[in-house]
Amino acid sequence: MNPLVQIRSEHNTPDHRTQPVKELAVLSGKGGTGKTSLVASFAALAANSVLADGDVDAADLHLLAAPRIVRREPFIGGNQAVIDPSLCTGCGLCEDLCRFEAIYTNGPGDLSWAALPHIDPLACEGCGVCAWFCPAAAIQMEPMVNGEWFISETRFGPMVHARLGAAQENSGKLVSLVRTTAKQIAMERGLDLVLIDGSPGVGCPVIASVTGAGMALIATEPTPSGLHDMERVAELTAHFHVPTALCVNKWDLNPSMSDLIESWALERGMSLAGRVRYSRAASRAQIEGKTIVEYAGDGLAEDIRRVWEALRLLPAPTEGNVPWPPRENPAGWVSDH
Ligand code: SF4
Ligand code: SF4
Repeated sequence: MNPLVQIRSEHNTPDHRTQPVKELAVLSGKGGTGKTSLVASFAALAANSVLADGDVDAADLHLLAAPRIVRREPFIGGNQAVIDPSLCTGCGLCEDLCRFEAIYTNGPGDLSWAALPHIDPLACEGCGVCAWFCPAAAIQMEPMVNGEWFISETRFGPMVHARLGAAQENSGKLVSLVRTTAKQIAMERGLDLVLIDGSPGVGCPVIASVTGAGMALIATEPTPSGLHDMERVAELTAHFHVPTALCVNKWDLNPSMSDLIESWALERGMSLAGRVRYSRAASRAQIEGKTIVEYAGDGLAEDIRRVWEALRLLPAPTEGNVPWPPRENPAGWVSDH
């Protein structure tokens, strides 16, 4: 059964296919800035969202969301060359043609088993050149399972997440799959928000997390490297014309650097979503498997609530890629139900 249909029937929810779905991508220049804690808290506050874990290389949102998996699927990220030794003539052409040095032989004409061409599965990029040019048609391109993806239920609502296999690539494609599925589920259930926990950095999975999103929130810390990393992510979101807001986490550890980072952001047309203080309650909440707003304690949860409220009131983007900077819209961006 189609996983989306299955989920819908489980909950007997109405079909709201016309409901517009907004996507908020929470990003950071590096790991450990509190990005995932923010996403989980937003999910607890939103009550109308689908969670999408875009950090497929090092997924950890499940540690806070405690998902119950209702569907799991293999992720076919691409193809891989496979040689049929019974057809191979040992000409060695494939080894010469492979630009990724994924094929190794003992040289043309050697037909002993050990000398037939072999393919290094970790090096093969699935380009298909060897299969195309093999004069004996001895090479086939076969689908390769690079990981798994899941549809789950959490106490905050549905969640789509994934796990990329060790040393596997195509994380961007997997993130796109996670996002698309999350958006479909949101439409099926009449939920209007997808909360994306993006990968840290500016690589392929981050691009897949943010392109076409309605809004990006960059979480950073008040350090020189936090400023530098934030600049790189902000350049990325500006490049893709995604309206971007900033949240400085642990701001009170270095107030002057927090000021500097916020000034930089304002000069470039970014919005300020607020500051979150340093507190050991963040670690304690993680240990207990709770979001910060569920755990509460010493004002930290209040800071995050304020960031969420600020995000809700940011200007509403149009569908898809939006003008940069975003247009004013007093109606706000993230709505309640
Ligand atoms: S090109 Fe084809 S026939 Fe030649 S060595 Fe490679 S697999 Fe064998
Ligand atoms: S598919 Fe491309 S990368 Fe893989 S072995 Fe063939 S030529 Fe090399």
